[in-house]
Amino acid sequence: MRECDVVVVGAGPAGMSAAAYLSENGVGDVVVLERLSEGPHRRYHSICGEAVSDRMLRLTGVSPGRVLRRVDRITIAFAGGSEVSIPVSGSIVDRNAMLDGLRSRSDAEFTRATVRSVRREGDRYILDTTAGGFSCRYLVGADGAHSVVRRDVFGSTPAEMIPIVNNIVEGSSDGSLRFTVSERYRGAYRWDFPSADGTMSVGYIKGTDSVGDVLSTGARHMPIGRIGAVVDRGCYLVGDAASLANPLCFGGIGVAMLSGRRVAESIARGSDGRSYQRWVDRDLMFDDHFMAAHRQFCGWTDEDIEDAMRPFRRGYSVLRGAFAAMTRPSLANVYISCWIGFGRGW
Ligand SMILES: Cc1cc2nc3c(=O)[nH]c(=O)nc-3n(C[C@H](O)[C@H](O)[C@H](O)COP(=O)(O)OP(=O)(O)OC[C@H]3O[C@@H](n4cnc5c(N)ncnc54)[C@H](O)[C@@H]3O)c2cc1C
Repeated sequence: MRECDVVVVGAGPAGMSAAAYLSENGVGDVVVLERLSEGPHRRYHSICGEAVSDRMLRLTGVSPGRVLRRVDRITIAFAGGSEVSIPVSGSIVDRNAMLDGLRSRSDAEFTRATVRSVRREGDRYILDTTAGGFSCRYLVGADGAHSVVRRDVFGSTPAEMIPIVNNIVEGSSDGSLRFTVSERYRGAYRWDFPSADGTMSVGYIKGTDSVGDVLSTGARHMPIGRIGAVVDRGCYLVGDAASLANPLCFGGIGVAMLSGRRVAESIARGSDGRSYQRWVDRDLMFDDHFMAAHRQFCGWTDEDIEDAMRPFRRGYSVLRGAFAAMTRPSLANVYISCWIGFGRGW
């Protein structure tokens, strides 16, 4: 049994951010357990649109390392042909380079191991893994959508687990994050994002679309919907394990890194975790109104989408949004959630 102070399960954005900030806040004796070896780990983390807003990078204090492309607007194209453009400020990052940068900030011991099960014994957590047993005072569950830590310590499951395909194809872009919204995307959309030089990243819910001549393709699950408790004594859930991604825009990298940072700072302070739980319960980023809007949106036909878009036929502005929310109260939550979600949820 390897005894240590902190075990972080998962070396994704949430786990690597936790590992970096644990070291930078003076917490030693930290072990990071990751089930994938280097090649598959890089492949897994390249299945992503890699869009992160400048605001999120500022909040997390993480350097993107290598920016593939700057983006300056979100364009939402609706069934029926209308389009809305919203100015934003963000980047398509090289996610693997960003993870490398976080790793270089951490003194943790990295071990390749799949965590099979977790149990609590007194004030310690005991992990059964493919690399043997681990015992720790603090446990950070950063093991993504199908978190074993969430399953064994919290017994909870996210409201929805959405399978998402991501393709890299040849193409060029005007520097916008383009979302195509239609009933075929089942309460979601297809995205066409710029990627590395001469390529685009095209994604959608599995089974709703297809593209030809792909250079690479992959699929991963995206959990959405609040799960309630994210702290159990010394055990914390972060990122997708805590189902923190935004249910409308599916942005999850920024909040994963931010939650990793907050948990690391909480452990360094010796706090009981209540402030982290409060943050997840109360911050606007995780408010239930996003999930309510997602559910409402799931039932819409193309005609409903076109009708909801009517106030923006001559373009988007905050004033038009406010007017639409006031004059169409049954759609107000969708308008407001989209405005906040697409603007600040990634
Ligand atoms: C196709 C797709 C595109 C996306 N595009 C964007 C985007 O453009 N912008 C954005 O902000 N968000 C995007 N997201 C969301 C974002 O990718 C996730 O929210 C983010 O990856 C969450 O990070 P995480 O560290 O919590 O989990 P993950 O990135 O899933 O990392 C979890 C890590 O834990 C490891 N692990 C899992 N189980 C175990 C175990 N039992 N033992 C040991 N290790 C384990 C995994 O191998 C993995 O390395 C996208 C999601 C998908 C599916």
